[in-house]
Amino acid sequence: MFSKAVDGLPDALSNEIMQRWYSVTVQKKVDNTLLWQVLIGFVVILFFFLLRLRSIRKFNQVLKEKNVELERISQTDHLTGLYNRLKTDEVIKSEVARSGRYGGTFSVMLFDIDFFKKINDTRGHQVGDQILIQISHLIKNNLRNTDILGRWGGEEFMIVTPELDVKNAGHLAEKLRLLIENHIFPEQIRVTASFGVAEYQMGNSPDALLKRADKLLYDAKSAGRNQVKIH
Ligand code: GH3
Ligand code: MG
Ligand code: MG
Repeated sequence: MFSKAVDGLPDALSNEIMQRWYSVTVQKKVDNTLLWQVLIGFVVILFFFLLRLRSIRKFNQVLKEKNVELERISQTDHLTGLYNRLKTDEVIKSEVARSGRYGGTFSVMLFDIDFFKKINDTRGHQVGDQILIQISHLIKNNLRNTDILGRWGGEEFMIVTPELDVKNAGHLAEKLRLLIENHIFPEQIRVTASFGVAEYQMGNSPDALLKRADKLLYDAKSAGRNQVKIH
């Protein structure tokens, strides 16, 4: 009788009742294995990437420091620590360009130690080296910060004095000459130096200016050494 009653139900109602009692719940289970594998792979790659980035940064820092050091070495005289000739020459060229453009002035002083060969011959090359080092310090300590002192050659030095006309540069050269003359070097050695001083003149090339200073130094030597010749 019950079956009959059930059979007699309309299809729609019977379906609804059936569904209510036989409903199937599908539980979707997501497999995360692949996701984890990708994630771990990504983290590992990121780790190595950051490691590499760190070592590249470190390498670049070292490279930067080496370049600064290389630049310093390329501009410096090994014995005295002063600017070498190349750098001093560059300074003169830029001073010529600056004065030519803005109309200022500057002077150059070339000085050379007198009879230096004799010191090397009688006291030895190492003593000679010490004198060159001490003269560098002596002169440098008596210049303004804006003045440039460079080693021009063996026992020859160049001073570039921005803004100084030949008269004032001559006074400065005389002061430095006396300083060297009165200084007592190791082993009680005394030395003197001769100076040629020239001021930049409008339109001068660096070469023309240097030639004048060189000629004046030669004049100072010919006139008996231990003196300043100005243009
Ligand atoms: P003058 O008064 O005419 O300049 O005479 P001088 O003997 O100084 O000049 P000369 O050019 O005959 O000799 C220069 C000497 O400078 C010869 C060289 O051995 C010496 N000299 C050059 N560079 C150095 C250096 O780095 N160290 C030492 N110890 N001596 C040097
Ligand atoms: Mg000399
Ligand atoms: Mg010389």
